[in-house]
Amino acid sequence: MDVALGAGVVDRAGTRHRRARLGPVTGVDEDRAGDFGPVPDPDGLDDLLAGVLVRLGGYAPVATEVVAALTRSDRARLLLALRAALAGDEIRLIAPCPNPDCGEIAEVVLSVAALLGPGPGTADSVDVDTSDGRFRVRLPRGADDAAVAVLPDGERNVALWRRIVEPDPSGAGPASTAALAAALAELGESVCAPDLAVVARCPECAAWLELDPDPADLLGRAQLGNADRLLAEVHCLAYHYGWAQADILALSRNRRHRYLDLLRRQLDGRPLVDLGR
Ligand SMILES: [Zn+2]
Repeated sequence: MDVALGAGVVDRAGTRHRRARLGPVTGVDEDRAGDFGPVPDPDGLDDLLAGVLVRLGGYAPVATEVVAALTRSDRARLLLALRAALAGDEIRLIAPCPNPDCGEIAEVVLSVAALLGPGPGTADSVDVDTSDGRFRVRLPRGADDAAVAVLPDGERNVALWRRIVEPDPSGAGPASTAALAAALAELGESVCAPDLAVVARCPECAAWLELDPDPADLLGRAQLGNADRLLAEVHCLAYHYGWAQADILALSRNRRHRYLDLLRRQLDGRPLVDLGR
């Protein structure tokens, strides 16, 4: 599965890498994904994402340092794609109604494909409020880079910031360096983030429910019921084939299931292969 990232990763030569490819899900990935709860371990997320990515632009394989350099919103896109690969496109969110007199359980259904949309990049700028006022920040273009390329190393960043951060017409003055840095940090987080926040109505009392799920948490929840099943599948293959746990977990989920199917046929005394006509 290919996922278009927003900011992606920029290498030392200045090339931006934005297209990520997820490989087939293995038992190792499923095992790691099951470890995530409401407070995921960032290092664990790096390992998980580096493990499932077979390519990120020109990076193949993808090291954890590359994954760690992605913005939070790009990581959210990858986590959602992985969740879809593990548990399907549909995400069901269930929340109690906030009205204390009601308490009804409301359900909201989201689609990963819809959340990821046609890919980021349609939004070219974002308005950012800083201590120096409101600024519009747009993504750097080739012309900006060409303009600053002739400057000494230490001056390029600030020169680039001055080009891409424009004061709002409502009248803020020129931005300070601190405000520029804050504006750029916000740009990285906001432009391409999949919007997971949903507002729904309670089916009973029509009160508003606001949900803002965390992608890592969604991934962990999708695997909640699967940890026991994965363990049982590893057990069956280890018991009958005598393979090591690490080797079984390294199989893609598809191949692991095909071996289990063969085993089932063998134990049932059925032919291993359906003979076509
Ligand atoms: Zn209600």
